[in-house]
Amino acid sequence: MKKVVKFGGSSLSGADQFIKVKEIIDLDKARRYVVPSAPGKRDGKDTKVTDLLYEAYALASRDKDFSRVFKKIEDRYNSIIEGLGLEISLADEFRTIKKNFKQKTGEDYAASRGEYLNGLLLADYLKYTFVDAAEVVFFDDDGNFDSAKTYKVMHERLEDVERAVIPGFYGSYSDGRIKTFSRGGSDITGSIVARSVKADVYENWTDVSGFFVADPRIITDPETIEMITYTELRELAYMGASVLHEDAIFPVRREGIPINIRNTNKPEDKGSWIVQSTGQKSKFIITGITGKKGFCSVNIEKDKMNSEVGFGRRVLQAFEDNDISFEHMPSGIDTMTIIVHQDEFMEKEQSVVSEINRLTHPDSIDIESDLALIAVVGRGMKSSKGTSGRIFSALAHANVNVKMIDQGSSELNIIIGVKNEDFENAIRAIYNIFVLARL
Ligand code: ASP
Repeated sequence: MKKVVKFGGSSLSGADQFIKVKEIIDLDKARRYVVPSAPGKRDGKDTKVTDLLYEAYALASRDKDFSRVFKKIEDRYNSIIEGLGLEISLADEFRTIKKNFKQKTGEDYAASRGEYLNGLLLADYLKYTFVDAAEVVFFDDDGNFDSAKTYKVMHERLEDVERAVIPGFYGSYSDGRIKTFSRGGSDITGSIVARSVKADVYENWTDVSGFFVADPRIITDPETIEMITYTELRELAYMGASVLHEDAIFPVRREGIPINIRNTNKPEDKGSWIVQSTGQKSKFIITGITGKKGFCSVNIEKDKMNSEVGFGRRVLQAFEDNDISFEHMPSGIDTMTIIVHQDEFMEKEQSVVSEINRLTHPDSIDIESDLALIAVVGRGMKSSKGTSGRIFSALAHANVNVKMIDQGSSELNIIIGVKNEDFENAIRAIYNIFVLARL
């Protein structure tokens, strides 16, 4: 059994958290490859080391004095060293980094040092081998992740290493320059390591006990999702739920390696499992509810639209020519509605409308703004009758007017459009009927 374990910034924010991390790792001998983030916030008022690094580098790149900010970074690491009683010193590393900042080695280099230094400390504390991510994670000249080279080199490098710490978030170009993933990218590194070493499980340790069925800012104390498929997670993440970086599932997905989201502060919780497929029914018919505000619908009507060949294509052409991507497209016999992001659409509204007029000569175009989309996702919906009926009767009882319905043909999700102001109420109504009523 081989496990890759990734610890997020809040799991490694100070010496007390490092102690918990070591306890977790020592508890299971299979936890052989460890991917750390940079130290995160210790409390609500604190700043992440990554943000301090960006701040210091912004000063350095304008030839300003960055020593005050850099001192804060040094203090963060030194307090971890002191708190754990380690003998290691990072003084030489700090000197090199400051020198490179002055020589303007790049923002990505700067940001990556948070994970690099934390990796050095964690490897020393665990007595694991330190493997610099710059030597095993690669990007091509266009800045895209070079999967083929990475998997090959990383596999060979780790093959004979029994236990290693590999810092998250960055890799290198072929000329050695450092490049980072987007923010939160240590999740991706963990997934890449899991794939390279052919791990049995990728454990992602964070500060929550997995995914919630619904946003805890809307539902008090929501239930946790025990098991979710990669596809369901994509649907939920796309519509706003975030615990894991959305690109983190791709490396492991191909190999079918399950991801287990765990809570460093509550290691006894089982967390959430993300799997390729499962015959296991979810506890509730639905797996999760999420959504976003700020959409706009463009409703086009024309008599006999259904028999006019190419009508839909011409409507979409108007959006494409204005460089606007559409989210959904529910349609009727003589009507067609295009749902778009309000911010993106508003500045080009009149240009789109006049192009639709020119290309399709509709009877009317009606625009409605301030809409929210809610996604109800669940593999269980396929095999159960009346799911949408229950959603709509719950919404009717909650006095929410449904503006749009769109059920994906895979029966994995139902998208519901409501007014922005009804968003929270609608989510509560759906949660109540599927989750609370089942407990
Ligand atoms: N430290 C980086 C960030 O704050 C990457 C990560 O934590 O995954 O975005």
